Amino acid sequence: MEYVTLNNGVKMPILGYGVYQIEKEICESCVLNALEVGYRSIDTAQAYLNETAVGQAIAKSSVPREKIFLTTKIWISNAGYKKAKQSIERSLADLQTDYLDLLLIHQPLNDYYGTYQAMGEFYHQGKIRAIGVSNFYGDRFIDLAEFTDVPPAINQVELHPFYQQNELRKIMENYNTVAEAWSPLAEGKNNLFTHDVLTTIGAKYQKTAAQVTLRYLTQLGVVVIPKTVHKERMIENLTIFDFKLNDEEMAEIAQLDTHQPLFMDHYDPSTVQHLTELGKIETMDN
Ligand code: NDP
Repeated sequence: MEYVTLNNGVKMPILGYGVYQIEKEICESCVLNALEVGYRSIDTAQAYLNETAVGQAIAKSSVPREKIFLTTKIWISNAGYKKAKQSIERSLADLQTDYLDLLLIHQPLNDYYGTYQAMGEFYHQGKIRAIGVSNFYGDRFIDLAEFTDVPPAINQVELHPFYQQNELRKIMENYNTVAEAWSPLAEGKNNLFTHDVLTTIGAKYQKTAAQVTLRYLTQLGVVVIPKTVHKERMIENLTIFDFKLNDEEMAEIAQLDTHQPLFMDHYDPSTVQHLTELGKIETMDN
């Protein structure tokens, strides 16, 4: 495993396991499998409704808690100083842990300043090792980062070969904020798994398009958290540290960038409208 060093010195695995859209009924066994095959970072969220299952898996696993980098995210409905604090306590209880490695604001909506203030308190008390944000595009990212004493350690955003976020990543460099890719495999959109450029490069190294993609992103210094419910794919996605893409191959994959999101555009009012509707739903999973 390779690591990135966050802007407060904390080390984070550059590759982790994401559990979005994994139903709670199978999430525990998926996380147990992921830990068994070697993942040491798990990315969940209040809104995924599977924090309890993640907590159960970590409790049952033979991997000690301190060897696992655990991330969760505060949902829109829990925004604001008071509600965020309560929701953090609840996440800690559901995850069966007394500390988090990383806590993110899931969306730049509702009272996220109050949320960040609550997160800062837990951070200063040593109950959260690093705090950051998700889906904060340049404008909101700069605003928050400028007016806090704890610059975000991470900004988790849509990032894959078809949307590489070069501009945002440049802005984030000013705050030493590490980029973390959600949907690093673009959930297979644009035929990622059979894409000509990615499979041709992969053939040279006996690697799949998924492995080439994850290797590419990690070579850029981007943290990746691919999701799969299949154990063999968990292993496949993890086996990316035994080859290196050369400059020419990196440049070729850089060309796949369409500079457009494939999932959602946070500058589009209809996206914001949709998210605010979702943000009114209570999300804790028990
Ligand atoms: P991914 O890009 O990780 O793609 C997951 C999909 O690809 C699944 O359908 C999976 O299928 C399939 N897949 C995975 N590996 C392989 C492989 N090697 N070969 C073929 N198919 C494969 O998308 P996600 O949207 O799940 O994103 C990953 C993580 O990012 C999430 O789990 C979550 O933690 C985070 N995230 C965060 C968001 C945010 O707003 N902060 C938004 C979205 C995601 P199968 O399971 O059947 O194998």
